[in-house]
Amino acid sequence: MKEILTELIFPRRCPVCDGVVPFRKGLIHPQCVKAFSVIGDMRCMKCGRPLKHTEEELCVYCRGRTHNFDLGIALYRYDDAMSASIFRYKYGNRREYAEFFSREMTRLLLPDLRRLSPQALTAIPISRRKHRKRGYNQAALLSSGIGALTGIPVYNDLLIRVRDTLPQKTLDSAGRIKNLKKAFKIARNDVKLNSIMVIDDIYTTGSTVDEAAAVLKAYGIGRVYVMTLSAVMQRDV
Ligand SMILES: [Zn+2]
Ligand SMILES: [Zn+2]
Repeated sequence: MKEILTELIFPRRCPVCDGVVPFRKGLIHPQCVKAFSVIGDMRCMKCGRPLKHTEEELCVYCRGRTHNFDLGIALYRYDDAMSASIFRYKYGNRREYAEFFSREMTRLLLPDLRRLSPQALTAIPISRRKHRKRGYNQAALLSSGIGALTGIPVYNDLLIRVRDTLPQKTLDSAGRIKNLKKAFKIARNDVKLNSIMVIDDIYTTGSTVDEAAAVLKAYGIGRVYVMTLSAVMQRDV
C-alpha cells in the first residue's frame, strides 16, 4: 500500500529521458535501455576507464603515476547521456535512479565482483553540509543497493568527509591532489577488514578515490578496490 501511494505521488522517472515510468513497468523505459554506453573490455587494466585503442593496457593517467587503490572497475562511459542522468540523480532529487544503477552495476560487473570478492563495500562520503542540502549521498545509495543484491556487508559510515573540497574539475592535477589532502577520516574503530570496495558515481582522475584509499590502507585494510557507476574517457580528463 505504501509503495503504491508513493508511486502515485512521486511516479518513478526513467534514468535516461526522465519521463515517468508507469507503475510496475520496471526501472527504465524499454526503449531507453540502450542509451547508456557500457565500457566493456576496452578499459584500463588499472582504473577501469574506457580506452580508445584495443592494444593499450593502461590509460595515460595510469601510465604516468601510481595509485593508492589496487584496482578500479567502472560500468558506463561518462558521456552526455550519463552526465545528464548523474546531474539529475545528484542535484534533481532523482534518488530512485539508484535502484537501476546499482542493479546494473551488480549485474554487469558481477564477474569482477566475484573475482575480487571484497569483504565489504563503502561509499565515498559527502560533507554533512551537502548531505543536509541534498538529503542523501548518491554514492551511498549505490553501495547499499549493491550490498542488498550481493549480500556483501556495507559500511557507509566507515569514512567521513572532514571538510568540503572544491569541485575537482575546476582544478589542475596538482591542485586536485592538494585539494583532497586530509579530506577523509576513519569514523569507526570496530571494523577489521582485509579488503574493501569503494563505491562512487564518477571516476575522473582518480584523486578522490586515491585519497580515500590512502586513509583506508593506513587504517590497515590491505586491498582497496574501486567501483564506479561511470568513468571519464582518457582524452576528456
Ligand atoms: Zn526513458
Ligand atoms: Zn587508468
